[in-house]
Amino acid sequence: MNGVRLVIVVPCYNEEEVLKETTRQLSNVLARMEKEEKIAEGKILYVDDGSKDLTWSLIEQLSESDRYVGGLKLAHNVGHQQALWAGLELVAGSDYDAAVSIDADLQDDVNAIIEMVDYFLQGVDVVFGVRRERKTDTFFKKHTAQLFYKLMSTMGGEIVYNHADFRLMSKRSLKALVAFPERNLFLRGMVCLLGYTTASVYYDRKERFAGESKYPFTKMLNFALDGITSFSVKPLRLITTSGLIFMMVSFFAIIYALVEFISGNVIRGWTSLLISVWFIGGAILTAVGIIGEYIGKIYKEVKRRPRYLIEKEVNL
Ligand code: UDP
Ligand code: MG
Repeated sequence: MNGVRLVIVVPCYNEEEVLKETTRQLSNVLARMEKEEKIAEGKILYVDDGSKDLTWSLIEQLSESDRYVGGLKLAHNVGHQQALWAGLELVAGSDYDAAVSIDADLQDDVNAIIEMVDYFLQGVDVVFGVRRERKTDTFFKKHTAQLFYKLMSTMGGEIVYNHADFRLMSKRSLKALVAFPERNLFLRGMVCLLGYTTASVYYDRKERFAGESKYPFTKMLNFALDGITSFSVKPLRLITTSGLIFMMVSFFAIIYALVEFISGNVIRGWTSLLISVWFIGGAILTAVGIIGEYIGKIYKEVKRRPRYLIEKEVNL
């Protein structure tokens, strides 16, 4: 019998519709692993990310009827990444041995947790849950997500293709992770920087069990931009390169303008002038915007604000 103690960390934002079923399925998995003596003890840690519905009272209720359930209530909605961080930080400072992070909506296959634990028992520190196919995603989500992974890797950010935030982390990898001081969190990228042994388990991603996605398009786009600008300064380099290219082009434009001037055709240049003014104006604005993104990040980091505040906890 080994003495592994496992926590499943589940960030929840307005998830009253799914929590009962999520608890049932996760408890089943934990009970099964206890029976098979893969783990000595299990816990489900719900992190309520400032929900506005009945999520917290449901967590309190579930913690009374189910011995596995514990909860942490954050004082304010801080977003999925920060809420997950709150849970992982708690585990890193506890006497549990490993944490699995999973979304509340049951899109990820809970049975993959068992495979993850198998890897952990073999000594692997970080086990990624990787989506096999994106059958249940809309055409749009599938393609924008793929574009994101491609863009991210060309920009030099190391991430695991088709892996979101469903993963197992050992205690020591959690400790290493929570030592990262940054406020802009992009966990799936940060985990790749740790350098401990990793493995992947594959699963089919399902439809959300109930409720709506808490990641509408704008949030998704923001998350993608955050990911890239947190992990790569290549966009800044791109600005310089495109600036140089524009200067080369303008060199030819100057020669052309002079030749036209000498031959006396000056009035004709209106169209080209208008186009280049608009184009270069747009290019400059984009460049300033990209630089602004990074400055905004620096601004957020230097403020050193707390990532989250805990309001209450239950059964921890
Ligand atoms: N979530 C959160 N805080 C937020 C938004 C979402 O804790 O501000 C949680 C949410 O409850 C869920 C997970 O993050 O457990 C992933 O959200 P969702 O399933 O809505 O995203 P999608 O799968 O559609 O990308
Ligand atoms: Mg989801």
